Amino acid sequence: MSQSSSRHLDTKLAHLGLAEFDPQTGAAPVAMPAMRSSTVRFRSLEDLDRAQAAQAAGERRPAYGRGGLDTHAALEQVFCELEQGQYCALVPSGMAAVALGITAFVQHGDHVLVTDSAYAPVRLYDSGLAKRLGIEITYVAPDVASVRAAIRPNTKVLYMESPGSLLMQMLDVPALVAVAKEHNLVTVADNTWGSGYAYRPLDLGVDVSVIAATKYVAGHSDLMMGAVVVGDHAALISAVKRTNYALGYSVSADDVWLALRGVRTLSIRMRESAANGLKLAEFLSAQAEVERVFHPALPSDPGHALWKRDATGSNGMLAFSLNLSAEQARRFVNALTLFGIGYSWGGFESLVQYVEPELVNTHSYWNHSTKPLIRLHAGLEHPDDLIADLTHALAIAKTA
Ligand SMILES: *Cc1c(COP(=O)(O)O)cnc(C)c1O
Repeated sequence: MSQSSSRHLDTKLAHLGLAEFDPQTGAAPVAMPAMRSSTVRFRSLEDLDRAQAAQAAGERRPAYGRGGLDTHAALEQVFCELEQGQYCALVPSGMAAVALGITAFVQHGDHVLVTDSAYAPVRLYDSGLAKRLGIEITYVAPDVASVRAAIRPNTKVLYMESPGSLLMQMLDVPALVAVAKEHNLVTVADNTWGSGYAYRPLDLGVDVSVIAATKYVAGHSDLMMGAVVVGDHAALISAVKRTNYALGYSVSADDVWLALRGVRTLSIRMRESAANGLKLAEFLSAQAEVERVFHPALPSDPGHALWKRDATGSNGMLAFSLNLSAEQARRFVNALTLFGIGYSWGGFESLVQYVEPELVNTHSYWNHSTKPLIRLHAGLEHPDDLIADLTHALAIAKTA
């Protein structure tokens, strides 16, 4: 059975993006080598002409190194499979993917709607670049009525993130896409949470998916990368290609090689992180010190029904508010020994972030509780150890 005939992601991820057999020897390496090259050499001008004609016809036939050679092509193929897309641009970070995923579809005078629970640095793209380019961004509660009311004649893009950052707010993406389509908006979704394994915005009708490969795809906290994946839509693919070319983004073959290595274990890592995340969410829900837990796989989460309907899995991300003072909550974080204090997530290791209120005060989903808010990433440690660490730290938090 070939990989292409399997419906199972685990099988596909083990067989996609392998090196071609050498036509002479019939042999090939199992692991695609990192093909580092800044340029491509042609045997004759006729060969160069053929490459350029193929390129003009839309084929991936590099004549220069910026977009990468076979190693990059292999990872692009994996992203297209993960996200069920037609075209993938690899970029140097998740933030670069966010910026490309918006900039590609707008020009001076256009308006973009962003769901208000999106990753906070999107607001830095807005204030740091979009405003100066004359692109106006407004933030909207991610429900159909609010989005409908916020659409203007010059609105071109609806940018979403589901589940939203920090509180894992599930959006009704198919309903939001339906409103956007009525107004011919391009829909873009940040799918770092799902990374093609747990969630697929393109399958839910979204046009473009942006992913921070830095997180679960790379999976080992050792590289920065992003991807912009476009569905079967020639005009949108062309817009991404042109804008990407103009911005000059390029990704190192070594990082691509590491990401490909990460991909081989993506599904088992995400399953394990998700199982640990759910165990931690259940444990925390039962603690008197915990006010509320945010994790869509938890049946008590308000997004649980949408998660069951639209997601194909979960991950290790959860947040919770504490019935403790800010000082006690800080003591709790400092007392953890298995959770590293740090931003980011999706690696093999557990992490904790003390969420500053200004990061969620702009989310319509946040109940503006004054209780301290903590975000965890459950890594691949044994869940009993993670729970023991949380138990110990909660006890320390309450000591005078
Ligand atoms: C981390 C993250 C990004 C940005 O990725 P970087 O590679 O760190 O630039 C974008 N979106 C979400 C949801 C993220 O968590």
